[in-house]
Amino acid sequence: NTQDIKILLLENVNQSGQDILTGQGYQVEFLKSSLPEDQLIEKIRDVHVIGIRSKTKLNKKVLSEAKNLLVIGCFCIGTNQVDLEYAAEHGIAVFNSPFANSRSVAELVIGEIIALARQLGDRSNEMHKGTWNKVSNKCWEIRGKTLGIVGYGHIGSQLSVLAEAMGMNVIYYDVVSLMALGTARQVPKLDDLLKEADFITLHVPELPETKKMISTEQLKMMKNGSYLINASRGTVVDIPALINAMRIGKIAGAALDVYPGEPRANGDYFNNSLNGWEEDLRSLSNIILTPHIGGSTEEAQRAIGVEVGDALVRYINQGITLGSVNMPEVNLRSLTLDEPNHARVIYIHQNIPGVLRMVNEILGNHNVDKQISDSRGDVAYLMADVSDVQTSDLKEIHDSLEALNSRIMTRVLY
Ligand code: NAD
Repeated sequence: NTQDIKILLLENVNQSGQDILTGQGYQVEFLKSSLPEDQLIEKIRDVHVIGIRSKTKLNKKVLSEAKNLLVIGCFCIGTNQVDLEYAAEHGIAVFNSPFANSRSVAELVIGEIIALARQLGDRSNEMHKGTWNKVSNKCWEIRGKTLGIVGYGHIGSQLSVLAEAMGMNVIYYDVVSLMALGTARQVPKLDDLLKEADFITLHVPELPETKKMISTEQLKMMKNGSYLINASRGTVVDIPALINAMRIGKIAGAALDVYPGEPRANGDYFNNSLNGWEEDLRSLSNIILTPHIGGSTEEAQRAIGVEVGDALVRYINQGITLGSVNMPEVNLRSLTLDEPNHARVIYIHQNIPGVLRMVNEILGNHNVDKQISDSRGDVAYLMADVSDVQTSDLKEIHDSLEALNSRIMTRVLY
């Protein structure tokens, strides 16, 4: 029953997401901030759904207290804040919104390319201090310059199109071979890109292989007076190496939106307390420093709210796991769920031999219209649509499945 579903939304989840969930008749509690761990544990005990952003840590300790939890919605991109494996092992699906803010990041980078080429940050800072300093030395148009994109995924490829529209030549490097948009060109090695590009922008995921991908050696290979932009993840650039390259004039400008250590809240944190080099960065000229705002637009937040809100509704009402980051992706198109005597059985179980036989023995007395099952690691997800079930059968099916050793979670939807 939808009115029985209790949802806790933390961290000021976008109105678009709230509206979708309240529109379903669920009980939604909304909080603007995250909660300290003890309060989070109190609250998470009786909710069925929790919606968070990046600050709420759903670790093993917290999740083990969540006895009724069905699903976690991360109204953001990253899911590092959730123990995904523990959640899966306990039948808790996790959803996020990986690409809703790609365009926002691409647009920010376009703005930064021109801002760096024209030293806009410095000129504006000088004017704010009352200084008129009209210079053209080492200020450039971007038309005809080469943009090197590292990582040609959702953001990198979007940026490619925008940059070409402004007359830039685009080259890109990616670990996989990808179709070039427009007249962009893939280069075989990162080194090729480093040597050829006037502007280099990073759009790779945070991985062991991308850690300090741009360090002293790579900066040395870059063209004299070139520019570096990082709005991907803070680990990708070796910041002390960049500071050095900027001090000696090798790199003419940089824009950083992400840092290895980032504060958890707004405030006076950009001093040496987190990483130890913040003051050095602040002392450089022609460096644009932004507080991880690449995806922070009204449009992106709204899109995230809708994407995650819809995924939660699909999961709560129909058990569909499409887009889940920790469960096998399972979907059945059901035309009969609203009809009387029909039910959808969801059985999340350990991925061990012999389970399907036992499940089908339990379902066997009924007419199974459709059935699908898939596994991901140690966890398997079975969905079956049965007809000819009376209300009294539902409890029996539920209890029989719950009694199996392989059981992680059983849900009967009707
Ligand atoms: P994506 O997964 O769509 O694309 C990443 C691309 O990088 C893929 O094409 C992949 O093949 C490639 N890649 C992976 N490893 C590589 C390697 N070692 N060398 C070269 N290429 C490699 O990701 P996306 O949505 O475009 O996001 C890119 C980055 O931007 C991510 O790190 C993401 O976390 C970050 N991001 C930042 C913000 C922000 O606010 N600044 C917002 C959204 C995303």
